[in-house]
Amino acid sequence: MPLTFDAKLGEVRHDWTKQQVTELMALPFNDLLFKSQMVHRANFDPNEVQVSTLLSIKTGACPEDCKYCPQSGHYNTGLAKEKLMQVEAVLKKAAEAKAKGSSRFCMGAAWKHPSDKDLPYVLEMVKGVKELGLETCMTLGMLRDDQADALADAGLDYYNHNLDTSPDFYDKIITTRSYQDRLDTLQHVRDAGMKICSGGIIGMGEREKDRMGLLAQLANLPQQPESVPINMLVKVEGTPLANVEDIDPFDFVRCIAVARIMMPASHVRLSAGREEMSDEMQAMCFMAGANSIFYGECLLTTPNPEAHEDMQLFKRLGLRPEQRIEKSDEEQEAVLSKAIAQDQEAKNPLFYDATQADAIASVQH
Ligand code: SF4
Repeated sequence: MPLTFDAKLGEVRHDWTKQQVTELMALPFNDLLFKSQMVHRANFDPNEVQVSTLLSIKTGACPEDCKYCPQSGHYNTGLAKEKLMQVEAVLKKAAEAKAKGSSRFCMGAAWKHPSDKDLPYVLEMVKGVKELGLETCMTLGMLRDDQADALADAGLDYYNHNLDTSPDFYDKIITTRSYQDRLDTLQHVRDAGMKICSGGIIGMGEREKDRMGLLAQLANLPQQPESVPINMLVKVEGTPLANVEDIDPFDFVRCIAVARIMMPASHVRLSAGREEMSDEMQAMCFMAGANSIFYGECLLTTPNPEAHEDMQLFKRLGLRPEQRIEKSDEEQEAVLSKAIAQDQEAKNPLFYDATQADAIASVQH
C-alpha cells in the first residue's frame, strides 16, 4: 500500500501524525528499507558510522525505579556499586579511548540528578576530556536549568537523556520521574545550547503503537535530537523485565528504518542490545539507517560486543568510523589498523574497556 501522505521523505518535520507513522511502519519490509536507505544516503555517507566510547563514572544504587535497569537501587541484580570516579582516572580512560580511535567520550552516572556536591567534579571531567580533543557527552539524570548552563559552560557537547518509550506506556516502566520531567530536562539542555542525545528502548513489552509514539515524540520535539539511541532491551536477572517476551528482530529493524526517515539529519545509534544481535541483524540495521554505535566490552553494565568484533564487522561491510578530528581517512585508518594489529598480537580487547570489568550497563536515564 503506497503512503497516503506526500511529504517529501528526507525533510526534517515536527508534525508527524500517528497515521503517518503507522503507514511507514506498515510498509512492506523491502519498501521501508529502500525508503530509509534513500533518506540515509541523502543526508550521510552511507558507509560511515560514528563511534563513541562510554564510561560509567558512577555505578549502581540509583534511586530511580526504571524497570529495565540493573543500576536501580530498587532491584537486586548483584551489580557492584561504585562511587563517583576520580577526575584523573576518568581523564586517563578518555586518553586511552582517544588513542584507540574514539571521537566522542560519553560519561554516565546512575543518579536521579547530579548533586551540588558532585557537579564541580563532573565539570572538571568535561573540561579535561574536552582538552584532550574529544567530543564530550554526559548522562547524569535530570538537570535544572542552572546545571545545564554550568555543563555547557564547561564545554559539554551532548547531553543524553532518553524518553525511553511512549507517554502512554511510560508509567509501566518508571514511576519515580514523569515524562514531563524528561521533556523539561531536554528543554534545559537545549536552552543551554547543548546538543541532545535522546532515544528509547524497544522490547520492554510495549505495543507497536508505543514504539510509534516514542518515535513521534522524538521527531516532533521543537528541534530533533542530534543523536537518537535505539536500544533493544537487555534483560537482566533481578529486574522486573527479566522475563519479558523477545522482540521480533525485524520489528526492531523497522524501528531503526522509521527513525531514520522521521529524523533524517540525526545520528541513529545502535546502543544496548547489540550483543544479542547477529552480524546479519546489525548489518540490516546499518542498511536501515543506523549510523552510530558504542564500542568497548560493555555498555555501562551490560555486555557490549567486543570492539574487536565491531571492527571486523566494519571491515566485512566496508564501513568506516566517522571522522571528527581533523585527520585524513588514511591517518584514521592507520590508527585503527595499528590497533587491530596490536590487538591480534596481544590477544587483548582492541579498544579500551569502558567497563572496568564489573562497572558497566546501559544507563538510559
Ligand atoms: S536508567 Fe538511569 S535513572 Fe533509571 S535506574 Fe538506571 S541509572 Fe537510574
